[in-house]
Amino acid sequence: MVFVLNPKVREEKIERFIHEWEQKGFSTILSVGTEHTADCLIGNTAAVDLDHVVQTNDIVAYGKRITEQYKAVNRTVHEDDTIVHVGNISIGEGFFTVISGPCSVESEEQILKIARSVKASGAKALRGGVFKPRSSPYAFQGKQAEGLEMLRMAKRETGLPIVSEIMNQTQIDLFEDVDIVQVGARNMQNFDLLKEVGKLKKPVLLKRGLANTIDELLMSAEYIVSAGNSQVILCERGIRTFETMTRNTFDLSAVVLLKQKTHLPVIADPSHASGIRSLVPPLAKAALAVGADGIMVETHNDPAQALSDGAQSLDLEQFSGLMDELRIRAAIEKKEM
Ligand code: PEP
Ligand code: MN
Repeated sequence: MVFVLNPKVREEKIERFIHEWEQKGFSTILSVGTEHTADCLIGNTAAVDLDHVVQTNDIVAYGKRITEQYKAVNRTVHEDDTIVHVGNISIGEGFFTVISGPCSVESEEQILKIARSVKASGAKALRGGVFKPRSSPYAFQGKQAEGLEMLRMAKRETGLPIVSEIMNQTQIDLFEDVDIVQVGARNMQNFDLLKEVGKLKKPVLLKRGLANTIDELLMSAEYIVSAGNSQVILCERGIRTFETMTRNTFDLSAVVLLKQKTHLPVIADPSHASGIRSLVPPLAKAALAVGADGIMVETHNDPAQALSDGAQSLDLEQFSGLMDELRIRAAIEKKEM
């Protein structure tokens, strides 16, 4: 961390500033220039609040971090790609893993029909929400614990690992048989929940918040990894912008940047990113093209009747067609599907 000091500050003020840092266990290097003096802080600055230092020290003009605040998820600290293993499936560099299923689990018949079909089309894991974060309290809230039982049944029938969203830490025990625990966009900065899923011995799918920066997503992943769980999969699912024609704006550059900044697997969710069925296949192909390690796509046996997110759900035939196209492209990219 470097602090550039205001011009013409008195020497004793600089000495006091340096002394305060030394008392906190840091060493500093002072560089006196003709115009400006800079003080470089050496040590673990992860917990230093840069803005606070600038605002509370009148001798500091501004400050800049040299290294990122996230360490455990940082590629500079851990060069090799993390591959997350779930049963016999792998998620990470070299793979293009497709997770599919309905937005919400609705009935045994529905989830089984979808599970069998997406498996036959090549999906490697089954998604299905049972605790649903809905904007309206009057909208379908999910089948809750009963829905989890339906998901378990679909897992037994098909062998597909299951992915479902946890809404708060009191639900942890209910998720015992869930293979990948999803932390949704609205909970990306629920830090108590992040600490709890950090204690789990199973993968966590962390979705980017509706209005969160890439840096904030990485810091949320840092909560989970630093708590002891290194099996984190990041998911770009679109962010809120001024555009209203799509549900969200798909931030493809985030996929590329995340792959550069972190060793964790990065997948994309073209369904929530667009909200529009016809956009899902092209955006899925775009995700593969920019280097995503997989996608999560919503599918439904009868999208028009879906209890949530029908407008963005592919029907089972459309999903199968998309998988055929992705397979050709994944082979070109030398990614295993
Ligand atoms: C979902 O996956 O169904 C969901 C609610 O996603 P998000 O948290 O990205 O909105
Ligand atoms: Mn959904």
